[in-house]
Amino acid sequence: MINFVFNSRIHTMNIEINYCPRCGNKLVNKGASVRSRPSCTDCGYVVYLDPKLATVVLISVGDELVLVRRAIEPQIGRWSYPGGYVDRGETVEAAAVREVKEETTLDVSLTGFIGLYSSSNRPVVIAAYSAEVIGGTPSAGEEVQEISLFRPSDLPEMPFPHDDQILADWYLLTDDG
Ligand SMILES: [Zn+2]
Repeated sequence: MINFVFNSRIHTMNIEINYCPRCGNKLVNKGASVRSRPSCTDCGYVVYLDPKLATVVLISVGDELVLVRRAIEPQIGRWSYPGGYVDRGETVEAAAVREVKEETTLDVSLTGFIGLYSSSNRPVVIAAYSAEVIGGTPSAGEEVQEISLFRPSDLPEMPFPHDDQILADWYLLTDDG
């Protein structure tokens, strides 16, 4: 059995859980490898660590795309697609529109679903959409240093694992003429 206990703390892909949320007893890992789950030896509670769903939105303005320069970790200072985490109980589409509004102050309408992107041993799953602007004036909002337009053929080096694939799939979705 592989476990991820270091210094009495349990690390499971960046989430650190030490104590049982139900009874407060110490947790231990049960199960092998990536399916290992923090479990309480006292009351039997098992912590199921779900994937984390995030959105990114490729927003067209003319023949350019809106990117934001990140003001938070990870990848602070790098340009990326607008987007962010989906809240529990929120539709994925609403989360995409909300995150764009928070980061860019733009109102967008989603125009297509580009795809769903995941990797082994990474907790984050990305739902990527295309969108067009329907209102608002672009300005750097929450968690963003700067906002700018880039030609899709001339984007800066993108920081996240699926970024290039998302762009390639966006071309396939939008170049249907
Ligand atoms: Zn417990």
